[in-house]
Amino acid sequence: MIAAKNISVNKVSISKVSELDFDNIPFGKAFTDHMFVADYKDGAWSDFRIEPFAHFSIHPANIAWHYGQAIFEGMKATKSTEGIPMLFRPEMHGKRINKSAVRMCMPEFPEDIFGEALYELVKLEQNWIPKKEGSALYIRPYMVAMDEFIGVQVAKSYKFIIFCCPVGPYYSKSLKLKAETEYIRAAKGGTGFAKAAGNYGGSLYPTELAKNEGYDQILWLDAKEFKYAQEVGTMNIFFVIDNKVITPAIDDGTILEGITRDSLIKILIEKGHHIEERPISIEEIMEAGHNGKLQEVFGAGTAAVVANVKEIGYQNDNIRLNPDNYQIAPMLKDTINGIRSNRLKDPFGWTVKVV
Ligand SMILES: *Cc1c(COP(=O)(O)O)cnc(C)c1O
Repeated sequence: MIAAKNISVNKVSISKVSELDFDNIPFGKAFTDHMFVADYKDGAWSDFRIEPFAHFSIHPANIAWHYGQAIFEGMKATKSTEGIPMLFRPEMHGKRINKSAVRMCMPEFPEDIFGEALYELVKLEQNWIPKKEGSALYIRPYMVAMDEFIGVQVAKSYKFIIFCCPVGPYYSKSLKLKAETEYIRAAKGGTGFAKAAGNYGGSLYPTELAKNEGYDQILWLDAKEFKYAQEVGTMNIFFVIDNKVITPAIDDGTILEGITRDSLIKILIEKGHHIEERPISIEEIMEAGHNGKLQEVFGAGTAAVVANVKEIGYQNDNIRLNPDNYQIAPMLKDTINGIRSNRLKDPFGWTVKVV
């Protein structure tokens, strides 16, 4: 691939990888030896470097801490059955973080250097990639404003950082969802399509309320009518009704354009399934649930890949599903994991080998 022409590398003298128990990886708490960092100042990105993973010193008036100019990505590197590190659709993540950046008045990050940074970092950290299928090196690229200034304005300085966390196989239990009729995640014209930090801060309170009622996650409905399904937590949502796979359309800017979502749609098309991207109302979902036509409901995102839904509560109504009978969801999960481990052929050209 690309030679590291733009990035300087400062390696640790001793890797901490031997301290990690690969059979028992705590999710999101184990970090690799190095991170990628770049600085934006005077109107340009500069100082692209890989350096030892370490804390930053942050000014108390750091503008991102106050006004939320902060965006992120989430992606995975895996190992092929032959032990070769692989990235999954890295260019999609490079494009998406720049879409988020534009919405948040942050500078776009050069996509070629994003690719180069991922490549060099994953190459350097390849001993941290768990080998077991379903495990991965979770990669967190993000950008934050760094101005030391109190006042709501567009910052002039930023940091772009990429760090990595090894993660074990993500055995998501089946989810109980609450279709939310009081709080919203994203409205038309808002920031729903961006992976902007504030979207997640704003979702915590209604999610806590739902958890107190015994639910695992919220099924967000549209902000105008509380009628159409949007998504769940950090996952897009899929429904199988009458052998048709339906997922909400993403064209109104309220729904995060998931790369897993896009991958599942392409796999479904390739396998000859009927797939509809369109608005789907909560009434349609509940009705299909009651008359036995709702066969599967599942979330789709990088972390879990596919997470089955076993129950949906909507006002005083409730439907139950039996994920043990699901056929499409487990096929999709197996296909993605199989492509990510090179066990299955990758007819889409999604994996990028790091060699
Ligand atoms: C990241 C995210 C998703 C899933 O996107 P992937 O690219 O599949 O990981 C879905 N919804 C929200 C709100 C997200 O933040």
